[in-house]
Amino acid sequence: MADGTETESRKLLGRLREEMASEAAGQERLDRITHLIADSIRAEVCSIYLFRDEDTLELCATEGLAPEAVHKTRMRMGEGLVGRVAQSGKVVNTPDAPSAKGFRYMPETGEERFSSFLGVPVQRLGQKLGVLVVQSRDARKFSADEVYALEVVAMVLAEMAELGAFVGEGAALSPLHQQSLQLSGGPAQEGSAEGHVWLHEPRVVVTNPIAEDPHRERERLTEAVEELRVGVDKMLEISQGGDKEQLQVLEAYRMFANSKGWMRRMEEDIALGLSAEAAVEKEQSQARARMGQVTDPYLRERLADLDDLSNRLLRILTGQGGTNGVDLPPDPILIARNIGPGDLLEYGRSLKGIVLEEGSVGSHATIVARALAIPLVVHVGRITTEALNGDHILVDGNEGVVHLRPEDTVVSAFRDKIAMQAKAQERYASIRETPTVTRDGERINLVMNAGLMADLPSLGNSGAEGVGLFRTELQFLIRNQMPKRSELVAQYQRVLDAAGDKRVVFRTLDIGSDKVLPYMKHVAEPNPALGWRAIRVGLDKRGVMRMQLQALLRAANGRPLTIMFPFVAQADEFREARWEVNKTIEREKRLGHVLPETLEVGAMLETPSLAFAPQKFFDEVDFVSIGGNDLKQFFFAADRENELVRRRYDTLNVSFLTFIERIVERCDISNTPLSFCGEDAGRPVEALCLAAMGIRTLSMRPASIGPVKSVLLRADLQSVRKIIADARHRGEQSVRPAVMEWLRNQG
Ligand code: PEP
Ligand code: MG
Repeated sequence: MADGTETESRKLLGRLREEMASEAAGQERLDRITHLIADSIRAEVCSIYLFRDEDTLELCATEGLAPEAVHKTRMRMGEGLVGRVAQSGKVVNTPDAPSAKGFRYMPETGEERFSSFLGVPVQRLGQKLGVLVVQSRDARKFSADEVYALEVVAMVLAEMAELGAFVGEGAALSPLHQQSLQLSGGPAQEGSAEGHVWLHEPRVVVTNPIAEDPHRERERLTEAVEELRVGVDKMLEISQGGDKEQLQVLEAYRMFANSKGWMRRMEEDIALGLSAEAAVEKEQSQARARMGQVTDPYLRERLADLDDLSNRLLRILTGQGGTNGVDLPPDPILIARNIGPGDLLEYGRSLKGIVLEEGSVGSHATIVARALAIPLVVHVGRITTEALNGDHILVDGNEGVVHLRPEDTVVSAFRDKIAMQAKAQERYASIRETPTVTRDGERINLVMNAGLMADLPSLGNSGAEGVGLFRTELQFLIRNQMPKRSELVAQYQRVLDAAGDKRVVFRTLDIGSDKVLPYMKHVAEPNPALGWRAIRVGLDKRGVMRMQLQALLRAANGRPLTIMFPFVAQADEFREARWEVNKTIEREKRLGHVLPETLEVGAMLETPSLAFAPQKFFDEVDFVSIGGNDLKQFFFAADRENELVRRRYDTLNVSFLTFIERIVERCDISNTPLSFCGEDAGRPVEALCLAAMGIRTLSMRPASIGPVKSVLLRADLQSVRKIIADARHRGEQSVRPAVMEWLRNQG
């Protein structure tokens, strides 16, 4: 960089620092800053545009454009050159603005006189705050050094905005982090919660973005990076021989920590007048902006690594951000970009709700949140940049909506809703011990789905009559390495102890598809849901299957045991697995272990093919459980993980119900017990129709047992069957409207 620009830039930042220290109010300060920048860059125009709402930019100060246009000229995201800079997060530098793509003429500003245009985004850690523009009459392209210098200034403006330096009248100058916001995301665990923000990774505030002595700042940066490197090396040393994935992440950390490019860019920022921490944050902001544009998952991960590393560096430089000694606020609602299952389990039930900027419906954190019954909303854009520790927040896990710093009217409506839910819960508690018998005398068995130790207390307080599906893979998924057999024995023992004389159906390891074990070699497959998963993996990796079967037999230690194999597509797969069970029993007997009192071995029906297996299969199997989540995705050829299609087909579609009825008939012929354990079993209307089709055991999330039982107790299955038959006869696609109407008439 040319020395001249460097000195100029430092001078400008020095003057900006004086501005920060001055008494001036928001508008006055902005006016003086535009003047300073225009003067320093020798451009006729300098303007600052800030967001007045999520989508609208407002001209907030200008040197050189018509002063009457201030707070009048507005543009939407993407509109005109300024809107283009804001939307793309990228610099626009052109000597001939009127001919540039997207140029929009704004007569009130008088800007037609200016030919060259340089606009840079004002953004802080992924949060878009505005656009800084310089323009000049002569048709020149601003030099790379000038662009760079303006980016540095934009960074300082972003820090000043964060610190409240421009607060004044009007929406565009309103303080950050104080407005009420409603943000939408994806519902991942139902329930509602009111509480206060707890940032999993507290935000570091840079109070000194500009520094006087670049030598000192460079030293500070070098020392901090050295401390960081030593820390990463130490972590690597500790992790040697351990989890491969973690090692890879640490190797990537080390690579970045030693990256000359990263260091050089930060040193250049410092040379222009930024403090060490502001330089780190500037590079971090730019990496985050890139992260928004990169779609390749590997590159996104690496950018996320760089982001984590920058956070560590910022914490070293500022001494802020450690959570040690800081108390959780009352009713904490955890806010994070993402969180691992281990961290989440550590917080445990102290959390009232969780809001993630990323995350996904099938992620491990979601599994844990479900087990702990903590309302969770995922994919909530901007939440980590908008929320501050302690902010009042409402989380609606049913709708996937979050209200940050809500208005009083929103709070009272929300509280009414929570009160109604609490009333319903009371009603469910009053029928907890009541056996589920419909009005026409059909006894329905309501059991629960589980998978973590955290689920077990629900066995008592939900009224579940047993565990219809224990997803054993969850114990494997939340760990960094393959559990040992002895650990599994201890876990399964605890499950059986907690269940007492209630039946527990242990499903063997169901991995593959969306459930990837971090420590198992990942096989890239074109269609993982149709790929190497569940029993297919078990039969190909007999060692793991045997180890788990042994652990189950030993945990039972003379008690009754129920084992279920997932994703059986044809009878022979079940036969082979059963053969493996028999072999394991023989081995256990030889070793002198006590065998289970009784043993049932069942199969999950999750592919349509198994419904058409020879009748002999239904004679052989001890029981069948319909895995409705998978069965439905294959029946309708609609990916259960794909938001574009996953809600497209109704479970109450006549074809699907007819198919279920067919499975019931096949099991009836052989007197084979049949249950249904997909998510639909926990939805009252769906559960009612499944029962009407002849299913007598429904396995669901514990929280669904009350609502499902309440509907079944009032239902007459014969009538529902007739409603369904009539709707089918009329040629309707779904029986939902007819069943809903019947339910409404029942009151
Ligand atoms: C199912 O597919 O319905 C099921 C219960 O299994 P999972 O959701 O674990 O795939
Ligand atoms: Mg399944």
